[in-house]
Order: sequence, then structure tokens, then C-alpha cells
Amino acid sequence: MTERKPDFVATIPWHDAKVSTLAIWCSDCRFQQQFDQFLRAGLGAEAFDKIAVPGGPQFLLDDDRPKLGWAGRRWLRFLVEHHEIKTVVCIGHEDCGWYKDLTGGALGREALNDAVKADLARMPEAIRADLPQVEVRPFFASIARVPGPVVIFEAIA
Ligand SMILES: [Zn+2]
Repeated sequence: MTERKPDFVATIPWHDAKVSTLAIWCSDCRFQQQFDQFLRAGLGAEAFDKIAVPGGPQFLLDDDRPKLGWAGRRWLRFLVEHHEIKTVVCIGHEDCGWYKDLTGGALGREALNDAVKADLARMPEAIRADLPQVEVRPFFASIARVPGPVVIFEAIA
């Protein structure tokens, strides 16, 4: 019996990392590398768990779509409890297509950003209601045009 040749071999070594951070962020492809860099270089989390879905942690507040909230909370609880997560980093971003869809395209750019930031500000309470043992750190990512374009992050209190 011949062993099947792999279709691809990753050059990044696998390692069994112990994590204490979970990131919940939007899956928008335009921001993935910057979010990843922010967690590693900005917050010092070399390894972390991740839930990347449209709108990021918005599912935690979405009473209109309870199935999304249920699934998201199930994943969140699983990761926090099984990996002994201590910190949950929530990232929302400028020009989020999920929020545009939720609002039917009715909001301008600033109002849309304000809606994302307002939701991020509610994340500590929304998460710690079920999981009081974790610290929740919400951040908003925006696009700076000068000297840009670059992605910048601000903590949301
Ligand atoms: Zn988005």
C-alpha cells in the first residue's frame, strides 16, 4: 500500500500552543491580516483562539436573529471553558458590510461607525453576563487615509 502524497505541505510549523486570549472579529477579508497583526504585535497575544464571522461580536446583541446568537454563545462558551480563556478581544471595523446589511444601507459612514462602536461598548456586559471570569477588550478598527491607507485601532471604553 502506498502512502498518499499530500496535496500541500504548510511551511509554518505546527505547535501545540496554550492560549488565554480569544478574538471575536468580523470576517471581512480586507482586515484579516491587520487584525492578526494587532493581536500579536499590539496586544502581545502570540497565539489566540478566534471566532471570525460577518459583523464580528454583533451576534451577541442580535435579538432579531436568535439562532445566530445561540450558536455564537455556544462557541464562545466552549472556547472560554475548554481553553481557560482569560481575555476576549472584540473587534469591529469601519465600513462593515454586515452592519450595512442590518441597517438596509440607510446609514452614512459616520453613523454606521457609531453603530458599530455603540455595539462594541456593550460587549463587556453582554459577554460577562454569562462568563464573568473573562476580561473583555473591545476595539474599533478604522482606515486612516494619511499617510495611509493603514488600519488603526482604538480601544472602546
Ligand atoms: Zn465587517
